[in-house]
Amino acid sequence: MTINKYRGFTLRNFKNIPQIGSLSQEDIEAINIVGQVLPFKVNNYVTDELIDWNNIPDDPIFTLTFPRREMLSEENYNKVSELLATSDKATLIKAIHNIRMQLNPNPAGQKKNIPTVDGQQLHGMQHKYRETALFFPSQGQTCHAYCTFCFRWPQFSGMSGLKFAMREADLLHKYLLTDKNITDVLFTGGDPMTTTAKVMSSYIEPLLDKKFSHIKNIRIGSKSLAYWPYRFLTDKDADEMLLLFEKVKKAGKHLAFQAHFNHPTELSTDAVKQAIERIQNTGAIIRTQSPLLRYINDDYKIWKKMWTEQVRLGLIPYYMFVARDTGSKSFFEVPLAKSWEIYRDAIAAVSGIARTVRGPSMSAAPGKVQVLGVNKVNGEKVFMLRFLQCRNPDLTNIPFFAKYDNKATWLDELVPAFGEKQFFYEKDDLISKTG
Ligand SMILES: *Cc1c(COP(=O)(O)O)cnc(C)c1O
Ligand code: SF4
Repeated sequence: MTINKYRGFTLRNFKNIPQIGSLSQEDIEAINIVGQVLPFKVNNYVTDELIDWNNIPDDPIFTLTFPRREMLSEENYNKVSELLATSDKATLIKAIHNIRMQLNPNPAGQKKNIPTVDGQQLHGMQHKYRETALFFPSQGQTCHAYCTFCFRWPQFSGMSGLKFAMREADLLHKYLLTDKNITDVLFTGGDPMTTTAKVMSSYIEPLLDKKFSHIKNIRIGSKSLAYWPYRFLTDKDADEMLLLFEKVKKAGKHLAFQAHFNHPTELSTDAVKQAIERIQNTGAIIRTQSPLLRYINDDYKIWKKMWTEQVRLGLIPYYMFVARDTGSKSFFEVPLAKSWEIYRDAIAAVSGIARTVRGPSMSAAPGKVQVLGVNKVNGEKVFMLRFLQCRNPDLTNIPFFAKYDNKATWLDELVPAFGEKQFFYEKDDLISKTG
């Protein structure tokens, strides 16, 4: 196996990407302008092994990682373009900050759900659903490459006030001891696999002790298989990381690796197949998730191919998400009605063992809401919905109805069906628990 050395590209050096010469001047200028506002980082694996440079700018992996002109509004694009040419750095930075603030950098109340221990707020954690605590290792607040649709983009853009970060593994462990309802700890980011095995060990190994017997599942959310599979092959501490996964299994817990894959191309290289196999050999189970994104995967055939290939490789398709209302959403958004059709067509086209995926699901303030389908009830066309996860666990899985709307792209654009004033979870006696 060749040793693959990571080479990252950002706005500063992207003109050194060997294939960049095949882009038009307009596309190169757009990267520089849009990249001032949205996060931009790519690497030599993505550029050499995933992107088809004969298909620019429409190539899905190019669109997933490279800023494109249409990702900003015409007005904002022109503003940044003009300021770049004419103004001083301080003016530019301020204008960019203002544009970012318009783009809803902190959607769906992510700043709520921050737990407290010993009177101290744990900014590196979120505890929204009873069983699962999210932890954001401060060293993992980056990714091997950045997705242009990413809702965590403030974390990568130096907006430190919004950054969830916590160094003290100590506080994480203390908190987990205070609540025996928590069965799952989900490490997320950014990408926790950008940290070293040593750092991950300092968080995970103490959890293998008897006093944490209520913690059954150690979950790791990561895009590393898609963006840098060499993390598990040739990186310096690849073996050490895999050994840590093995220790979790040996301690009688489940290591659930939640892999983000947006397109079947990300499953096509020898490197990713080998990395998947090495992770599986530790006893870990890989589940997969992705948002539904226009220009990247808004066709049921793409999902059919992706899920079929995932199951063949031993991965379990888990979630299909609706893109969140942040950053470049208007570029990527797909109406809920169409999202459901894509989901349904894809599910109908695969065998039963690939029908484990739930979606399309919106991670909204009250919970994860799945669009179950469209139908007519007493002559009224409606969406049927349910909470897959809810802040108030009593409400999980109860079907409810919204008026059909072929343009709506998010829960807050829907109104209750049958002329009702509120959704059931908004009624007074429930709202206090649901938030
Ligand atoms: C999705 C999510 C989880 C995990 O939910 P599962 O359905 O168990 O995968 C936990 N916390 C938050 C805030 C989430 O959005
Ligand atoms: S890998 Fe995840 S956190 Fe990182 S840029 Fe992509 S969506 Fe955002």
